[in-house]
Amino acid sequence: MSAEFAARRQKVLAQLSDACLVIGAAPVALRNNDIEHEYRQDSDFYYLTGFDEPQSVLVLRQTEPRFVLFVRPKDPEREVWDGYRAGVEGAVKQHGADEAYPIAELATRLPDLLENHSRLVTPFGRDAELDARVTDALAALRKRVKQRKWWPTELVDPAGLLHRMRLHKSPAELELMRKAARISADAHLAAMKHTRPGGWEYEVEALLRSQFRKAGAERLAYECIVGSGPNATVLHYRKNDRQMGDGELLLIDAGCEFGYYASDITRTFPVNGRFSAPQQELYEVVLAAQLASIDAARVGNTLDAVHQASVKVLTQGMVDAGLIAGPVDEAIETERFKKYYMHRTSHYLGMDVHDVGDYYVRGEPNPLTASEVITVEPGLYVSEADADAPERFRGIGIRIEDDVVITSEGPEVISAGAPKSVDEVQRACQG
Ligand code: CA
Repeated sequence: MSAEFAARRQKVLAQLSDACLVIGAAPVALRNNDIEHEYRQDSDFYYLTGFDEPQSVLVLRQTEPRFVLFVRPKDPEREVWDGYRAGVEGAVKQHGADEAYPIAELATRLPDLLENHSRLVTPFGRDAELDARVTDALAALRKRVKQRKWWPTELVDPAGLLHRMRLHKSPAELELMRKAARISADAHLAAMKHTRPGGWEYEVEALLRSQFRKAGAERLAYECIVGSGPNATVLHYRKNDRQMGDGELLLIDAGCEFGYYASDITRTFPVNGRFSAPQQELYEVVLAAQLASIDAARVGNTLDAVHQASVKVLTQGMVDAGLIAGPVDEAIETERFKKYYMHRTSHYLGMDVHDVGDYYVRGEPNPLTASEVITVEPGLYVSEADADAPERFRGIGIRIEDDVVITSEGPEVISAGAPKSVDEVQRACQG
């Protein structure tokens, strides 16, 4: 992978002129007292360095030294408590930095590193401490006005450049994403097999988590949603503490992160292994919507078009089921469908589960291009308390979500290992 990180740095530098890029590691977040949240490196920082330690700063320059890292120095006493650090030496030897320094030297060294570059590329507003170091460095440089020196007078947000790069996944990135999706799909399959009436949502969550870890995924890509019965209609349900009843559906939205890449899969299945007639009726509608949207996930199409493909099928289904009044065109136009389908169909997927990338460019939907990865996740949610809905549909929530690579040959569904046709799902639940 180290060649991949070097290639990314080279690509960034090739696209900048007379610029110096400064990006900080993610800060450590305290959970309570002196206990920290699990540390997860900032995606932009990791994308360019592969370095996963906190209290680090990357400086990329177009003149030598090009790749400079400020890191936590070796500290045998601290390492007894917190574990291994690469230190200054490791940053050079293992991570390929041209030069590395202890993080404490950032303030004194930064002005010289920025000197003689006219543009500064840094994500101002993301890390107050780093912002302060950078503005101090600029203030120090302005005092060199009577020397034959220049310094950055243009400030550029790296998001444009870096996030455009991150939106398009390299073959190595796609391999990691396929692996993450495969692990998550296997976990969904296991959940279908082991869910029984009388079991608890948290037992299913525990199963998913253990499947992820056993397969080598380092963490969740986001908190698991395991919602049974009416909980399946709560979009961001997180408690996962309800006992599952016979005749109910279970909606699982869960994905692991593998090698810093997210997967994001949703499946909905019957707790007892058999869909009831009203459950199956709505499930077939959501599945047809999802297949229509996946088919629309093609180069040149927009995410709006992918969304509209689902909206069309779902709205037709809602009218047919007597959930909303027709005609379909008018129900779409006046957004009557939003009562039962209130979210969008897709988001970008990558190092972040809601990955970076422009959804719109100057207000216009950004057409899909090859090697982007998106989710396709239509749903239908009928609240238990909805007195206007036909009674047999009340309390039914369904979402089906896959991870799709946009390729010049059409959509590649990388989460296909998780069953989703009615027959496949029932077989998996009974197996
Ligand atoms: Ca999801």
